Amino acid sequence: MNKDNIMEVKGLHKRFTSKGVTVKAVTDVSFSVKPGETIGIVGESGCGKTTLGRCIVRAYNASEGEVFYRTKGGEELDFLKADKKKMKEIRKEIQMIFQDPYSSLDPRMTVLDIIKEPLKANFPKMPKDEMDQRAKAMAEKVGLNPMYLMRYPHAFSGGQRQRIGIARALVIEPQIIVCDEAVSALDVSIQAQVINLLRDLQRELKLTYLFISHDLSVVEHISDKVGVMYLGRMVELADSYELTTRSLHPYTKSLISAIPIADPKVAKESSRIVLEGDVPSPLNPPSGCRFRTRCPYANERCAAEVPEWREVSSGHYVACHHFEKCQ
Ligand code: SF4
Repeated sequence: MNKDNIMEVKGLHKRFTSKGVTVKAVTDVSFSVKPGETIGIVGESGCGKTTLGRCIVRAYNASEGEVFYRTKGGEELDFLKADKKKMKEIRKEIQMIFQDPYSSLDPRMTVLDIIKEPLKANFPKMPKDEMDQRAKAMAEKVGLNPMYLMRYPHAFSGGQRQRIGIARALVIEPQIIVCDEAVSALDVSIQAQVINLLRDLQRELKLTYLFISHDLSVVEHISDKVGVMYLGRMVELADSYELTTRSLHPYTKSLISAIPIADPKVAKESSRIVLEGDVPSPLNPPSGCRFRTRCPYANERCAAEVPEWREVSSGHYVACHHFEKCQ
């Protein structure tokens, strides 16, 4: 494992089998993250990004591959080979924030109890007073009024509920946060507030984020680098600025062209690339390049060969036989 990284994912696969049918939800995904960095994972619904996030927090066991992780204590572990004791340690250090802040909060629990829950589960011997103190301090850090912590989630707005979810994830002082569509259910103005909060917390607590979203405009705003997924495979990965200014994959190009442009003059000059057809079923993905049924550059080679995942310039990876055409 490179000493600069906190996590390295190598050749990760996740397959689900039910009634004799196998779905390849994630196929051969690789990336690395440095401490304090944000990696965005973007793609349409069903592209495997949530499954990937769940494999990272070990809610799912990956079918194949390696996930190297550097613990707070500096130990390097391969997640997928870690024993139960190590897994418990890793789970404390990698937490998840969910899309729907309402359904992920127990409506029968007070907000204080919700925030305290991970402390109870992971530090059962911690004195009650200390748990209260930590939960209140974290609530305040995320901008919740400590006066209202004895209330129930339904008394809070969507943005405040997401702050409760953030406090709950952070109260046990993790290193990595997987944000799964964490702002997608919120109004645009509230989205900006929650993103700014996540950034402030990242700086203060030296957090590393895996930020999963279908919305590239949100992902590029918060991420240092971005990975683009299509039908279970990562098709491009680069620094955020590089990806949005010099993308090499036709699918990334189409996502970028859909980002709204504030300047009407620039917007008039830019053209939207609208993809034909729907995303094929992951039950029966196309042969060769999975994007070929919607790609304007597809030819016979694309149907016959899976494009190689290659680094075309420092830190810029792409999987496309004809990426030169996109330059
Ligand atoms: Fe398009 Fe072929 Fe590149 Fe796939 S490999 S993105 S089908 S040009």
